[in-house]
Amino acid sequence: MADTGRAAVFVGPNKPFELRQYPIPKLEPGSMLVKIAMSNICGSDLHIFRGDMASAGFDGSREAILGHEMAGRVYALGEGAGADSLGRPVKEGDRIVYQYFQPCWSCPVCLSGVTRACPNKSGRTSPVGEWPYFTGGYGEYYYVPPGRKLFRVEDDRIPDGLIASVNCAFSQVTQGWETVGLRFGQSAVVQGAGGLGLFATVVAKEIGAAPVIVIDAIESRLALAREFGADHTINTNEVKTPEERVARVQELTGGLGAEVVAELVGFPAVVQEGWDMLRPGGRYLEIGNINRGMTMSYDPSQLVFGNKSVHGVVLYEPRIMPQVLDFISRNLTKYPFDKVVSHVFPLDKIDDAFQQAEWLGKQQEKIVRAALAP
Ligand SMILES: [Zn+2]
Ligand SMILES: [Zn+2]
Repeated sequence: MADTGRAAVFVGPNKPFELRQYPIPKLEPGSMLVKIAMSNICGSDLHIFRGDMASAGFDGSREAILGHEMAGRVYALGEGAGADSLGRPVKEGDRIVYQYFQPCWSCPVCLSGVTRACPNKSGRTSPVGEWPYFTGGYGEYYYVPPGRKLFRVEDDRIPDGLIASVNCAFSQVTQGWETVGLRFGQSAVVQGAGGLGLFATVVAKEIGAAPVIVIDAIESRLALAREFGADHTINTNEVKTPEERVARVQELTGGLGAEVVAELVGFPAVVQEGWDMLRPGGRYLEIGNINRGMTMSYDPSQLVFGNKSVHGVVLYEPRIMPQVLDFISRNLTKYPFDKVVSHVFPLDKIDDAFQQAEWLGKQQEKIVRAALAP
């Protein structure tokens, strides 16, 4: 067993990450230590790196180990640990997925069944450099505290980069469709064909939504969206104005607009356009806009007179994770899941990985999702 492991520490927006060595932590009863195989760079990690989340505490005043879309194998088990949240045995060497946040399970919000909205949930709680040290995905290990919901990965065929997405993007969009009530035969629009958008597309398709329409500015992503089941794609560089895009969606949905539209772009500027794409009675799924303080103005009467609703969703209920794993297993050879994580970097090249994954950078055409493999 190793004595120490490396982790990449975020010290402030747009600053190089610092690679540091930390001791292998002592394990509390019920905890597990995971050896990370791969950690993806998610849009929210990029937001933090760019300084978009400075007002949420990521302004450099405190250090952090970022990364939450991770996959790995159990390296060590704390006393009494040895089963997943479905009661299946877990041993050293098994691959597991787990929530990267921890609801309290006992507040009124948790008791109402919406544990993803728990106001007491904990994430990266201990300061960098203090036990249990490995509190984020960009390191060689990750400490899974007692009480964390986790699930053994049964299917060895699923690549690590895809397993990592079950911790975040894949489960979140699946939760989103469930929350907004997307059903068989309903029309769905996906704004944004990044990792979230591609997963949303394939889940919508397999739910039986029709048509599934995907909007993005990058043709290679739209081509991938079609491979993931999009019936139609709209390139915003070709269909240039919001009015034209709304008209196109109406044309593709029998003149009325879509029953459900999902926002997976992450900028307020696309929201009005998304609402305009909804048919009367339509539902808007808001997932992408996670930057506090980025605002828009709107006319609430259009929601009233349109009987339109907006559902905000962040995180997911733990039961979604085994459902998503099962979904991936069933569809692994049907869709090109291996193309979502397009670029893998070693941990000590984390700065290059972030520069290249930067969605406004020149590499945008090539990168869907970058990942780090320590
Ligand atoms: Zn994420
Ligand atoms: Zn709670």
